[in-house]
Amino acid sequence: MKKIGVIGGMSWQSTQTYYRAINEGVNAKLGGLHSAEMLLYSVDFGPIEQLQHDGQWDLLGHQLAQAGQSLERAGADCIIIATNTMHKVAPQVQSQLGIPLIHIADALAHELKKQNINRVGLLGTAFTMEQDFYRQRLIDKHGIDVIIPDPAHRQLVHEVIYSQLCHGHVHPDSKAAYLRIINELVFDGAQGIILGCTEIGLLVQQADTDVKLFDTTYIHAQAAVDFALSL
Ligand code: GLU
Repeated sequence: MKKIGVIGGMSWQSTQTYYRAINEGVNAKLGGLHSAEMLLYSVDFGPIEQLQHDGQWDLLGHQLAQAGQSLERAGADCIIIATNTMHKVAPQVQSQLGIPLIHIADALAHELKKQNINRVGLLGTAFTMEQDFYRQRLIDKHGIDVIIPDPAHRQLVHEVIYSQLCHGHVHPDSKAAYLRIINELVFDGAQGIILGCTEIGLLVQQADTDVKLFDTTYIHAQAAVDFALSL
């Protein structure tokens, strides 16, 4: 089995989900008491969140590249960055590594294509919904049409992530608001919805709606498992 290097802690609420999902994924394939070989570099999210909102992406890229290099030196065979937003600096991180970085949007696109989804709604942080690094990769590299909520709803989705979900707080009002926004995206033609922030699964799950949800945490974790178990 190959060793998975995880750059996590963004936030640690969702890194817990990754840890469980990766171990469960390996166990589902290998059975018995098998579990994943995994290395975790968990960052202090406080200063990282500040730098995100200050637009200091070069510095963030440098910091995550250093974390990735530590994992590589410790024996990791691949790296995953356990957040959608921080994939803004994925090219910078990959350029400093000698091992592959498994990109969350590529793992997601693979799953969307498998399920014949051509037009999809995206929920995530404002960075993820509005900037090119994520949406444009789905559109240009994978030919998937991505729609996003209107500005007021984008702000609501963003604020719930940073002020509630990253603290581990789950409020029924926020869940109802997210479900309303999901339905509006479906009304606008989305065949499914990307939970494009690794904490959204704490708030909304498939059992809450008939709309097909694509939870990037589980999809990304499974891509790492597939890599670890490949020959
Ligand atoms: N975990 C979140 C994501 O998937 C947001 C936190 C962050 O800014 O990294 O985008």
